[in-house]
Amino acid sequence: MIATPYEPRHVHNPEGINYDPSQGTFEYLSPLDFTPFNALAPINAHSFQLPGLGSEGPLCGHQHLSHFSSDLKSARYDLLSCRRIVCPRCWQDWARRSTFEIVLRIEALARSTGQRPYRCVFSVSPESVSHDSWDWDRVNTSLFHRGYRRSGNHGVDGGVAIFHPFRLKPKVKRQLRKTGIHNGVGMWAVVRGWVKDGADLFEFASFGPHVHSIVFGSPMAHSCDDFVLAFDDKNGVPQQLATTKDVVAFTRYLLSHVGVLMDFTISEDDPHEKEHRRKTHAIRSFGCLHHIDPEKLLPPAEYEALAKEIAGLLDMEWVDGELRYPASSRDIGTSDEGIEWLPIYKLGQHLADDAIYKSLSPSQRDFWDNVVTFMGLEGHSPNTSELKPPPDVSVFETKPPPGDST
Ligand SMILES: [Zn+2]
Repeated sequence: MIATPYEPRHVHNPEGINYDPSQGTFEYLSPLDFTPFNALAPINAHSFQLPGLGSEGPLCGHQHLSHFSSDLKSARYDLLSCRRIVCPRCWQDWARRSTFEIVLRIEALARSTGQRPYRCVFSVSPESVSHDSWDWDRVNTSLFHRGYRRSGNHGVDGGVAIFHPFRLKPKVKRQLRKTGIHNGVGMWAVVRGWVKDGADLFEFASFGPHVHSIVFGSPMAHSCDDFVLAFDDKNGVPQQLATTKDVVAFTRYLLSHVGVLMDFTISEDDPHEKEHRRKTHAIRSFGCLHHIDPEKLLPPAEYEALAKEIAGLLDMEWVDGELRYPASSRDIGTSDEGIEWLPIYKLGQHLADDAIYKSLSPSQRDFWDNVVTFMGLEGHSPNTSELKPPPDVSVFETKPPPGDST
């Protein structure tokens, strides 16, 4: 799942990341106003927030001891994150990880079949977008399901579909085109910036549910009274995403203005929880991209190279099957390459090994013993000021993710 509802337990479990773009859901954030999910309840412009334009959760941005080196000579500190999609600090991490998973699927299929994907839009007819009332059932039937069927009849074999609740107002688009300030970054990057600086989103955007997709096949433009399949190109010619870099950039752009649903709380006790979440997924794979395992589509070395390439395009690294940010030593500026990191919850077990324990200096023993004690008392691992590492333990810190550039 791309987004799970915010829960404090995630704060203490930075390794527990499990993103599955085929099940990407919105985040549900209203613990005070519990409104049970109802697929027939109306949704409108005020049902959504944009990623990164809301508030951050408790302990977000806190740097804590997360790993130790197998020889106990180094300690690695990672940033805690609240993982709220609306968090100004965390949304880029969510966007990077989600983009990684989506692009991995798309590129694995592209490379294994020798095809390139296209970008297109599914929409209901322009007249009925803003005038009719919307609820989740309608999003599912008239955007997603109709989109899969109609696009299937018009050359699309499948792909990934991403739901957007807002459309930019025509006058805003006209003005941007006149000035060209969006060139190279996209119109939504400019509008996000204005909103971040305090402007009202609804000055620039109105409610207008639609779906952007990245698809395989030979898509053909189509328009009838209840559905439009369109391409961004003026001549109605589908535009190919020629390189992996293009797919990464376009996916990230699409994720920058997905709607984060604010109105409903889906309780984990709800017997229909899974069903409700499925109905409100913002990101869905369909057709030929549904139920594929990218790892099985490519030879292991090619898969590894692809994962590394995508991670690199996102300013991240792919190490031992894990997507992470580069760690760097605070003191001497060396990389942690070659260090075998073990997760902090294995510390007690590791210290129990006499041979390892005896190889440590007294200050190293003290430090690691104190870490175990600290965690027992506080229920979380320390940062460098809560428990100062001795000079003979090297400190590695995960650099804060590159900031919110949009
Ligand atoms: Zn956060």
